[in-house]
Order: sequence, then structure tokens, then C-alpha cells
Amino acid sequence: MSKHYDFFVIGAGSGGVRAARIAATHGAKVGVAEASDLGGTCVNLGCVPKKLMAYAADYHSHFEDAKGFGWDTPDHVEFDWQKLIERKDAEISRLNGIYNKILGNAGVEIIKGYASFVDKNTLDIDGQRVTADKILIAVGATPRWPTVEGAELFLTSDQIFHWKETPRRAVIVGGGYIAVEFAHILRGIGAHVTLLYRGELFLRGFDRELALALRDEMTKQGVDLRFNTDVKKIEKNGPIYSVHTTQGDILECDLPLAAIGRVPKTEGLNLDNAGVKLNARGQIIVNEDYQTSSDSIYALGDVTDTYNLTPVAIQEGHALADNLFSDFARREVNYKNIATAVFSDPPLSTVGLTEEEALAKGYEIEIFKSTFKPMKHTLSGRDEKTFMKLIVDKETDRVLGIHMMGLDAPEIMQGFAVALNCGATKAEFDRTMAMHPTSAEEFVTMRTPS
Ligand code: NDP
Repeated sequence: MSKHYDFFVIGAGSGGVRAARIAATHGAKVGVAEASDLGGTCVNLGCVPKKLMAYAADYHSHFEDAKGFGWDTPDHVEFDWQKLIERKDAEISRLNGIYNKILGNAGVEIIKGYASFVDKNTLDIDGQRVTADKILIAVGATPRWPTVEGAELFLTSDQIFHWKETPRRAVIVGGGYIAVEFAHILRGIGAHVTLLYRGELFLRGFDRELALALRDEMTKQGVDLRFNTDVKKIEKNGPIYSVHTTQGDILECDLPLAAIGRVPKTEGLNLDNAGVKLNARGQIIVNEDYQTSSDSIYALGDVTDTYNLTPVAIQEGHALADNLFSDFARREVNYKNIATAVFSDPPLSTVGLTEEEALAKGYEIEIFKSTFKPMKHTLSGRDEKTFMKLIVDKETDRVLGIHMMGLDAPEIMQGFAVALNCGATKAEFDRTMAMHPTSAEEFVTMRTPS
């Protein structure tokens, strides 16, 4: 006989784990199916390993910068890629264990295996049947593969975290978060990096001036940025890959990385058996209650048409579990003013509207901006600028958007996201005392619109 649950979650990633744990604490009998390691993309193949590797990359410049502060650091330092991967893997295993404990302590049953729908209340998990009153699909997304000749030769972010050889020459295709973050990581550890982006300027959707500022910094660091360029085909001879570009160049490398977006991971779920409908982009269609076209089935996170960000999936999972299994007042997810960061070098962070978005929405805006050499680099001697920008609604004085490229930008922006969510005006920024000496103080001292 199949085991029955009040709530069964497919996928133990950020959204699924939160939904399962909260539902169980509300008294529901909950099960989770996970075919891979607990924690999903963020823990295993995304945010966490990426950030650890970005820290590793940053040491390169730290060693160089230290000289300007009196440290006699060696001119040549060795980097051990294998050691980094091993240390990173050990940390990820620790986190997998924590997720296991969190779910176990909440009374959630974990079934290792790949779930597919038999009908709208029944799942087959590698031959084992379970039934549930309510089922949540939280399976996330998977890298999109290029479709050019030889595409199977590319690595994606899924493989690079376990790549065995030290990358020496990398060609990255794409101009979004992953492409730019890996350009930082790979350049930082000493590889030669070429980034191909099909459009005129990478980081489409970010404030244009912010993307331009990062373009300039990456160029100074020696990253070979090639815009209006895409991959045409890829070949491999021995250990060397040859990436042919649409501009007619052939780029040799030992690491070709495709970072061209992610697609919902619905393959194999047999959604047709449950009447779950997808939109034209293959994302599961849900209503404001995260309910799919099948009334007993819910979906959230990257498998739906939402922001592909871990904190969003977590909030969605929490809201769903509260709203389904508690008597609490309805929990809503606030999708406004979501701060986001790109862990580039220097990092970018942003919250609210870009200049382009504000104008497109019809706002009459004032722009305040500042470009300066951060204090650290007065002694380090590094030629690196910080760029900061505020977008203000002329009519209401409300700050509509905040953008920064520079040291600690992500740490700084999280606090400013609170201010934006509170509807802060420029006058309130102005009457906030500056904290000196910081870069962040610039956000409360910019007086003259540009
Ligand atoms: P993004 O959506 O950020 O960027 C995809 C890039 O690939 C864009 O530059 C896009 O170009 C380009 N592209 C898309 N299709 C093709 C194609 N067929 N050929 C060539 N280029 C193409 O995706 P990522 O893969 O970088 O990241 C996936 C998601 O993961 C992000 O959207 C983000 O939500 C999340 N993420 C968040 C991070 C963070 O918060 N720091 C870090 C990493 C990922 P175009 O702009 O022209 O469409």
C-alpha cells in the first residue's frame, strides 16, 4: 500500500525545504523527494559554492594590494584549484547535513529518488508509490544548453563546481549573473578569460551606467570582453577546445563555459498525468496562491515564472506552508524592491528601478551619481573606481532606485532595500547622518543632481 501524506514536496531546494519544514511544524504529515543532494541549486551548484570561490578569487588582488600597506607579500603566489574544490565540497557536505537535520527535526520524511506524477495525488518515486492531499513542485531549474554545433562540449555551472583541472584559459558565453560571476572567479584565480555576449552590453536589465562601469573595470583587469559576439560552433582536439565566434575568430581554451540562462526542470515529472499546465517558456503556471492548474498541486521558485533567487523561493515556500496549514493571517510575499547582487569584481548591487525603467514608467526623475576611488585603493594603488547612483522621483521626492558597483556593494544594498521598502525620500536620505569614512556614506551626501 502506498504511504499517504498531507503534503508532499518534490525537490529539497531552498523553496521546498522551507515549505516542508514549516508545514510540518504546523502539524502536517510531510514528505520530501529529492534525487540529489539536499539544499538544491543554491547550496550545491549555485550561491554557496559560487560565493566561496569568489572569496578565493579575491585573494589574488588582496595579496597585490597588501604591498601598498607595508606588507612584503611575494610577487608570485601559487593557487591550488583542487584544494579549493575539496575545501568547498567539505563545506557543502556540512550544509547538506544541516538540511538533513533541519528536515528530520521537523518530522519531515525524506525519500531519496526522482518523483513523477501518476495522477494529481499520486507520485512514483523510483518505483515507490506515495499519495498526498497536496503536492508541491519545487524542482527548480537547470542550465540552458547552447544549440550550436558541438554544444555538448560546453560546461555549464553544474559541471564547473567539480571541474578537476586548474582552468588556464576560459571562454564564457553569456552576459548575465553566472557569466559575469565566473569571469570574476576564473580571472581571479589567474586564468585568461574571454567573455562572449550576443548583445551590445552585458547585464541587460541592470542600470546601463552600472553595466558600463563594470565593463570598464573588467577591461582594466584584462578580461577580454567581446560584445555583439556569440558562439557559432565548438570543437575539441585533445584537451584543447576551439570556440568559433560569429565574428569569425577561433578562441582556444581549456574551459568553455555556457552561462546562457536556466530553464525549468520539469522533464520527467509527467505533469500531463496531473493536469499541470506550463506557459510558453516551460514554466509552471501558478496563481497568487502558488496553485497550479491542478487544484491539489502547487509550485514555486525557479520552476515558475518568478524571480530566480533563493530568498524569493524561501519566502514563497514559507507563505505557502503558512497559508495551507496554519490559522495565521494570510502571509504575502513582498516582491517589491528586491535587492540583488552580482558577485563580480568589484561587485554590483542594486535595488529598485534602473534609470531606463523609471523613464519607461513615465517618471520625471532626478539622478544623483558619484564615481570615486575608494579609500582602500589610495594606498593599494589599484586603479579601481566605485560607482553609485540614485534615481529619484521629481514629483514625490521618493527614491526609486539605488545602484552601486564597488567594494561591499551587496552588504551595503541590503540595508538600503529596507529604506526603499519604507518609501524613503531623497530628503530623508539627506537628513541621515553620514558614517565616515565609508563608501556607503556617499548615498546620503549626494546633493547635486547630474
Ligand atoms: P541570466 O538570465 O542572468 O543571463 C543569461 C545570459 O545569457 C544573458 O546575457 C542572455 O542574453 C544570454 N543568453 C540567453 N540565451 C542565449 C543564447 N541562446 N545564446 C547566447 N546567449 C544567450 O542567466 P544566468 O544563466 O547567468 O543565471 C540564471 C539565473 O540564476 C539568473 O537569472 C539569476 O536569477 C540567478 N542567479 C542569481 C545570482 C545572484 O543572485 N547573484 C547568481 C547566479 C544566478 P540576453 O540578455 O541578450 O537575453
